[in-house]
Amino acid sequence: MPAKGKHRRPKSQRFSRTIAIAGVGGVALALPLMGAAGVHAATPAAAHSVVKAAPAAAKTYVVKPGDTLSKIADAQNVSGGWKKLYSDNRSAVGGDPSLIHPGLKLTIGQKAAAPAATATATQAFAPKAATGAGFALPVQGASIGTAYKTAGSMWSSGYHTGVDFVVPTGTPIKAIGAGTVVSAGLDGAYGNEVVIQHADGKYSQYAHMSSLSVSSGQTVTGGQQIGLSGATGNVTGPHLHFEIRTTPSYGSDVDPVAYLRAHGVSL
Ligand SMILES: [Zn+2]
Repeated sequence: MPAKGKHRRPKSQRFSRTIAIAGVGGVALALPLMGAAGVHAATPAAAHSVVKAAPAAAKTYVVKPGDTLSKIADAQNVSGGWKKLYSDNRSAVGGDPSLIHPGLKLTIGQKAAAPAATATATQAFAPKAATGAGFALPVQGASIGTAYKTAGSMWSSGYHTGVDFVVPTGTPIKAIGAGTVVSAGLDGAYGNEVVIQHADGKYSQYAHMSSLSVSSGQTVTGGQQIGLSGATGNVTGPHLHFEIRTTPSYGSDVDPVAYLRAHGVSL
């Protein structure tokens, strides 16, 4: 009796349970089948009317700092809530519904409508989805020199607070994810340095750069070039010193390799 699983109305479920308790085998078989037929008849008609009503509903929403899917769903009166919003924008948001980034474009309303504008918007944010929700390596093709938490007297904290990517001077340095530049300039032993705040509240730091191409207050996207690698500050040779922090300041570091991996970046 495969049709039995399609019952959706509590009324018919209660009804078939009553019959089962009564224990009248023959009747119990016949009645749920009738109920199932009723559901089948109603479903295509309902689905059809939804598709027809769709074209007026769709619009594009640009994610702002501090937004969550449930907050947007509430504010925009999305029927079906954040889960519906997520399933409609699955390819743009990526695998983690709790991670959305400022600047991300979401389609609110029916995607099935597919007017020309919706198709264009989908194409515009498709490449982002392909790079693990917009996260990328800070440098391409580099090997890791000194690992995170390597102990040593040359660091004032007693250990290495970031990870060093060995790259020649002049290698493009990229923002690992979308965010806002909170500082860009000379910072003592770190030389030319950029610090970016991301939507999850974490900060990424890029040090010893030879030149900077962003400034404080600027918003960046994941993979956007922020300058060139170098050997400024306290270094023995050119490399990128890279940290993930819970605050903009030195001393709040967390494992940068684990952070990148958690965001779908392989290294
Ligand atoms: Zn370092």
